[in-house]
Amino acid sequence: MKRLDFLKRQGFSLCVGTLPKSTLGVTMFDLKSIVIDVPKNVVATFLHEYMHVRRPKASEKATEKSAIKIMARMTNKEISQLALRIMRGGRR
Ligand SMILES: [Zn+2]
Repeated sequence: MKRLDFLKRQGFSLCVGTLPKSTLGVTMFDLKSIVIDVPKNVVATFLHEYMHVRRPKASEKATEKSAIKIMARMTNKEISQLALRIMRGGRR
């Protein structure tokens, strides 16, 4: 965990929170804080892998693009609901 130890030595704190739009994470140097939007990261990864299944022949770049496009149209509420389902292994 040398990266976490490094951040700690630098006086940075790590927290989880909701960030605007398609921001997956942010570093606030003034507050010495890194915020990670966990549901958004889960959904971003899911949509990316989902697009690989939907369009198996699409390039990595095209897959990335479509996943980002889908997520940009989702509300924060939809993102958290989908993230919860994904973390339950797809069950309701
Ligand atoms: Zn990929």
